[in-house]
Amino acid sequence: MSKLNEIGSKEEEISKQLEELQIHKDLETKLEKQSKKSKELENKLKDQKDLIKQLEKEKSELHKELMKYKKVAYLTFDDGPSENTIKILDILKENNIKGTFFVNGRTDQISLNTYKRIIDEGHTIGNHTYSHDYHTLYKSSEGFINDFNHLNTLLKEKLNVSTKFYRFPGGSNNQLSNRYGKKHLTNEIASKLKQQGYIFFDWNVDSMDSKARVVQKDEIVRSVLNGSMNMQQAIVLMHDLQGKHTTVEALPEIIDGLKKQGFAFEGLSEHSYNKQFIATNN
Ligand SMILES: [Zn+2]
Repeated sequence: MSKLNEIGSKEEEISKQLEELQIHKDLETKLEKQSKKSKELENKLKDQKDLIKQLEKEKSELHKELMKYKKVAYLTFDDGPSENTIKILDILKENNIKGTFFVNGRTDQISLNTYKRIIDEGHTIGNHTYSHDYHTLYKSSEGFINDFNHLNTLLKEKLNVSTKFYRFPGGSNNQLSNRYGKKHLTNEIASKLKQQGYIFFDWNVDSMDSKARVVQKDEIVRSVLNGSMNMQQAIVLMHDLQGKHTTVEALPEIIDGLKKQGFAFEGLSEHSYNKQFIATNN
């Protein structure tokens, strides 16, 4: 190889290296720009998230303010689904009002269809435990929470639905755990579930439909309409268990009576009025 050729190929090599260096440099600049952009977007996202949080807080405060001026009745039905649930759903639909169903666990097709109707028709669905069995529920907080989760799993798997809301069988102030030597068990359960984001609801108007196997329709109507008198926010306890047919029969008169008292009807929500018999820690 001549000296000249050698120099020529060296030159070529050097210019190739320079070219590569330039490409390298370009890539670095590009990367720097991208990182800057992504940082900017991250900051923007954070601002947006803060804004959403702020707006949600304002929404919740406005809702509370509004509630001071609005009379709202929350019709709640425990222990379903059953055939009565279907009849109740029909009545609510006819009246174009929303209610709340605290359900137990059932896996037959009619029950699954009924859960689905509750959800599809815009009512609130809440967990009332899978078994409703006091012996299982009030022996230990693990017993309660396992049973509670069993129903959540059913609702998630069969209906792809999850609910934040629940009601204690017997109410949060029940003393049922005392018979198993555990005092204040519901407080313990409520605290644990609160940490997971669950909210429980009791009631401030009792329809008295569970004081006997069958309670006369007129007595149920009277209990609700007397109980709600002079109230601003009424959470009405009723039952849609099989056999509670007088509750179904009472419902149209209850709705009419509450309307005459000036109530609007809503499903329970995280923004709604709440009545809790016991206080929870944390
Ligand atoms: Zn119940």
